[in-house]
Amino acid sequence: MTRSHATPPADTIPSADAGSPAPLPDRDLRREFADREDLIAYVAALFPAAAARDRHVAPTRGGRAAAEATLAAVDPAAYALTRNTVTGRVTRLGPYLRYGVLSLAEVRDHAINAVRRRGDTSKLVQELAWRDYFARVYARIGDGIWDDREPLKTGHDARSYAAELPDDVRAGTTGLPCMDAFVRDLRETGYLHNHARLWLAAYLVHWRRVRWQAGAAWFLEHLLCGDPASNNLSWQWVASTFGHKPYVFNRENLEQYTEGAYCRTCPLYGRCDFEGTYDELSRRLFRLEPADATRRGREAPERRDRGRRDDRRPR
Ligand SMILES: Cc1cc2nc3c(=O)[nH]c(=O)nc-3n(C[C@H](O)[C@H](O)[C@H](O)COP(=O)(O)OP(=O)(O)OC[C@H]3O[C@@H](n4cnc5c(N)ncnc54)[C@H](O)[C@@H]3O)c2cc1C
Repeated sequence: MTRSHATPPADTIPSADAGSPAPLPDRDLRREFADREDLIAYVAALFPAAAARDRHVAPTRGGRAAAEATLAAVDPAAYALTRNTVTGRVTRLGPYLRYGVLSLAEVRDHAINAVRRRGDTSKLVQELAWRDYFARVYARIGDGIWDDREPLKTGHDARSYAAELPDDVRAGTTGLPCMDAFVRDLRETGYLHNHARLWLAAYLVHWRRVRWQAGAAWFLEHLLCGDPASNNLSWQWVASTFGHKPYVFNRENLEQYTEGAYCRTCPLYGRCDFEGTYDELSRRLFRLEPADATRRGREAPERRDRGRRDDRRPR
């Protein structure tokens, strides 16, 4: 089921007959349920607008016991080696961190204790630090995270971007098997791997020329870890309003880090929207002056992981 927590104040819930926020009841919400179905029915009744929009229920379990079990399975060394691949050993800790079931410090301490070589924790701790950084920016600028932090570096006028999410993207019927699968995963599981978030966001903003805010609000409807700070500032990073160039990817990049899962059987293989080198795609997508050649699409993050230690940009 999609959630409706995108922007309403934390102390409100939608009223029973509409999607608009209503004050919380003056009693506690129920905490005991006969089974998961009972819990799902209760939440659907509390959030009828969200339930009417999408009835998918994510498989992720809530609560401290589930969080501890997920944390115990985290392998920081394997994470560092495989995190860019969609089948890699990522932690899936997002929802527990988002709702304070686990703290960043707990995850950091687990990582330090779980490795023999201290350096094996670096990658995971670095990603936790991005979350912390985004939260600090949010604390400072508040709703300013919904505004462009800087001008776009795509060469396009900000007014040329559509304000609304296209129907085919929302429904996952673009005809691009990879993008449609990511949309399906987003809706059905409330989760997308970081790389899939980057690809889908770049597709929406750069290929479809839609304002990043429409994509950010859409992600917040669905992601179980949906967090305005990490979400919006990541969207802005992709768009280039919170970084010095836009993020783009190509088919080769997507094929490699999905291990060919979508490209292998794709009828568009070799002629899809993502074919080309980074330079070619940037020339196709952006309107950069020749002098701006160095600002062409941001290279894929995994390349940075491999060597450019001076690059501390968020993602
Ligand atoms: C367009 C876009 C939207 C995003 N929206 C959100 C969001 O709403 N909420 C959210 O928590 N993260 C968001 N991220 C960041 C990142 O994709 C997720 O934190 C991560 O994929 C969650 O899966 P995981 O728990 O398996 O992460 P892992 O890779 O296992 O990382 C462990 C934890 O580190 C933190 N982390 C990892 N990568 C990042 C990152 N790039 N930026 C910030 N924190 C990170 C998260 O808390 C994560 O749970 C977004 C990224 C993009 C590109």
